[in-house]
Amino acid sequence: MSKEKGFCEICNHEIEINMCCNGNMCGCMGLPTEPPVCSEECYDVFMSKEYRDKKAKEYSERFKVSIITHQKNN
Ligand SMILES: [Zn+2]
Ligand SMILES: [Zn+2]
Repeated sequence: MSKEKGFCEICNHEIEINMCCNGNMCGCMGLPTEPPVCSEECYDVFMSKEYRDKKAKEYSERFKVSIITHQKNN
């Protein structure tokens, strides 16, 4: 477990993020062990359905090509 400098996912406030490891040979994939947020308010936003939907949309836009390929197989 190590701490790294990072930014709150919601408001970009500088925070320390708990990291498991660099992700090498580990299931954590080098991702933070907790949501990278600075406060309970930002945590609530981070966990809200609206925010999840927004992120899911961004994610699907980024990987649109592979998603379209998958849908064609159905
Ligand atoms: Zn924040
Ligand atoms: Zn790890």
